[in-house]
Amino acid sequence: VPRNDTPSLDALKREIGRLAGIGPKSAERLAYHVLRMPADQAEVLVSAIRRARERIRHCRECGGLTEAEVCAICEDPARDRSLLCIVEKPQDLLSIERTGEYRGLYHVLMGAISPLDGVGPSDLRVESLRERVVKGGIREVIVATNANVEGEATSLYLKKMLEGAGARVTRLAHGLPLGGELEFADLATLALSLSGRREIDES
Ligand SMILES: [Zn+2]
Repeated sequence: VPRNDTPSLDALKREIGRLAGIGPKSAERLAYHVLRMPADQAEVLVSAIRRARERIRHCRECGGLTEAEVCAICEDPARDRSLLCIVEKPQDLLSIERTGEYRGLYHVLMGAISPLDGVGPSDLRVESLRERVVKGGIREVIVATNANVEGEATSLYLKKMLEGAGARVTRLAHGLPLGGELEFADLATLALSLSGRREIDES
């Protein structure tokens, strides 16, 4: 067995390969690319990762990503504070923002109910959601969880939890792509799904 002269290259490939959506081939290609980069550019990449890790946090109100205590959407006086859109992940919030069709506020759950994965309501930002709605002033809660098993289970749970809290609870219309992940929906589909929202049917 020949001596391995480049264990640090192996480590680089391994770490890149851990990133979402990166297979072994891509990991290898990217590792070589990083090696060929000018030193200062590689340094910029490393410090961008470090800075993002240090500065990005969750908004105290909605749970979306921000570098401040409260995010720009929550602070924007022009947003409609009587509308609250519930999403699973911060990325989903961005997807809905990009449609340009929504002017209300958000609440990020940080996941979806999934008994198979051992994720229950107490693992999600559900209590802070209840508090926001109970506090009053919200006329409609739009549940924009993914159109898959977990998203549907979460949507039914929220509908029950918010019963009698004084807000109408609606759900995005179907028509999202297979698997129903907001992240992968195109903007036109998402905008349609938002405008076609309706009451949650428990049957
Ligand atoms: Zn916020």
